[in-house]
Amino acid sequence: METIVKPDSVRRAARMPDYAGARATFSWGAARAQMSGLPDGRGLNIAHEAVDRHVAARGRTVALRVLGRDGTTTDITYAELQRRTNRFANALVALGVERGDRVFTLLPRTLDLYVAALGTLKAGCVLSPLFSAFGPEPVAERLRLGEGRVLVTTPRLYERRVRPARDTLPALQHVLLTGEPAAGPDDGEEGFTSLENVLAAVGEEFTIPPTDPEDTALLHFTSGTTGRPKGAVHVHDAVVAHHATATAALDLGADDVFWCTADPGWVTGTSYGIVAPLTHGATLLVDEGDFDAERWYAVLAEHRVTVWYTAPTALRMLAKHGADAAARHDLSALRHVASVGEPLNAEVVRWSADVLGTPVHDNWWQTETGAIMISNFAAEDIRPGSMGRPLPGIEAAVLERGPDGRALRVEGGVRELTTPDTDGELALRVGWPSLFRGYLHADERYAASFAGGWYLTGDVVRRDADGWFWFAGRADDVIKTAGHLVGPFEVESVLMSHPAVAEAAVIGKPDPMAGELVKAFVTLRPGWEPGDALHDELLAFARRRLGSVAPKELAVDPHLPHTRSGKILRRLLKARELGLPEGDLSTVETP
Ligand code: AMP
Repeated sequence: METIVKPDSVRRAARMPDYAGARATFSWGAARAQMSGLPDGRGLNIAHEAVDRHVAARGRTVALRVLGRDGTTTDITYAELQRRTNRFANALVALGVERGDRVFTLLPRTLDLYVAALGTLKAGCVLSPLFSAFGPEPVAERLRLGEGRVLVTTPRLYERRVRPARDTLPALQHVLLTGEPAAGPDDGEEGFTSLENVLAAVGEEFTIPPTDPEDTALLHFTSGTTGRPKGAVHVHDAVVAHHATATAALDLGADDVFWCTADPGWVTGTSYGIVAPLTHGATLLVDEGDFDAERWYAVLAEHRVTVWYTAPTALRMLAKHGADAAARHDLSALRHVASVGEPLNAEVVRWSADVLGTPVHDNWWQTETGAIMISNFAAEDIRPGSMGRPLPGIEAAVLERGPDGRALRVEGGVRELTTPDTDGELALRVGWPSLFRGYLHADERYAASFAGGWYLTGDVVRRDADGWFWFAGRADDVIKTAGHLVGPFEVESVLMSHPAVAEAAVIGKPDPMAGELVKAFVTLRPGWEPGDALHDELLAFARRRLGSVAPKELAVDPHLPHTRSGKILRRLLKARELGLPEGDLSTVETP
């Protein structure tokens, strides 16, 4: 078994120097005691733990360092962040927004996004951050499902992504506009308010209302194989897990300069791109720009980043860029590198050890788990290619699967696979604070995610004889492209709204850089002829509506395979695309 051995100096310096000991003694109660709680026993609020509680002792510490697209650097101290988030909370109150109302953000990674996120939580409202590269369809779908009452966005994003569906969003009452004054709605137009104006009109003192740890805090959309996006509901108590897992899996503490490259539109960008580092009182780097290998190395070096959390696709792109680029920068401050979201190739772990001076620590979690569940650790050796082992406080199992690919339900629950190196569904014992509390308006889907006291993850994994977990694939048809989860149904629905398309099926096609890329197959309606023009038109049509989750490849296929009951067999399409064995064809309808 290939192992990257950690030097003793690294082991001793780690914030969790003894994994086995920490697992044996860990309790969520003790982890909760690390939180300060709202004054006078008024409960637990994420924004208080992230901002207000640091102000007395560390008010002058930089909380956010924002690197602008224009090359500027803006430092915001904890004291300043408190004032700004207080103003935002006051603005919501002034607008008549009530506790529990949903506040959506559709913003680039500017300071406004971070202030709006934390101010929303202070006000007791529910934050739902949307990825600003989504097209109008995914944006409208999520705003509709989540019944957003407030949207914070830029004039340009509003015009392009929201205006087309405005009539279908009856719950949306306030659009707060910020950022570039491009052509867009005026402040005077009904329902639109300039964020700057509304913030200027309110004070910077705010008392967080009593917050029950079980009050809803966050709504994060994720995708399944079928149906609409799922809104995973998280509560304020999740902060206990954000904080504890950041120590255990990211080796994060108050003296760190931390950079999480994920956008807050995805769960990593919220749990670890906003909440966890601030609960530790660390300095969080926020980069408005997109991936650029040279600039990223420069950011790591110039800002003396100590802990870096990123994604395999980005690391593969850096590795492709060559070792010389890294050598030109002083990365000596970088102590811990971790990645999440998609399989991390063993070569990249080795590359990182050589080029960045520390191996990448792969870890695993998902929107529903709210926090890191399985990880490689700072003080522990690494088995390149493995996701690592469960965190303290987390019990993981591999379950026998049934014919549908998901955990087999037997009387009394499910069956654990104890033979090492056997594929099964990854399951986690219910009971950690950041486990989602529901899928919005989808109670049955939520209930179906649990059996026998386990949360069923939908991932297929193996556990080796020493308890390390290895990712094998998904039990369903969702696609992971550049670390972003894409539901095939959402893409297929948009393609089928084109007049030429009779039927569509979407798969993830393996790609050396992005892990998978989204590939669509369509059958045409009578009267339409395949050809380059239609091919390009369909891709452009999908791109306009879906944005970053649109298919990159498309093929016309008059014979999409179906089950006898009429469902498209994406799995078979994928096998055909890859030239793999087609498996059991007994349920396939033959044309
Ligand atoms: P999301 O809910 O968008 O964060 O996506 C979660 C999914 O990403 C998981 O269910 C896995 O399929 C995949 N994933 C996350 N981390 C890893 C990892 N370290 N290795 C392989 N797949 C991962």
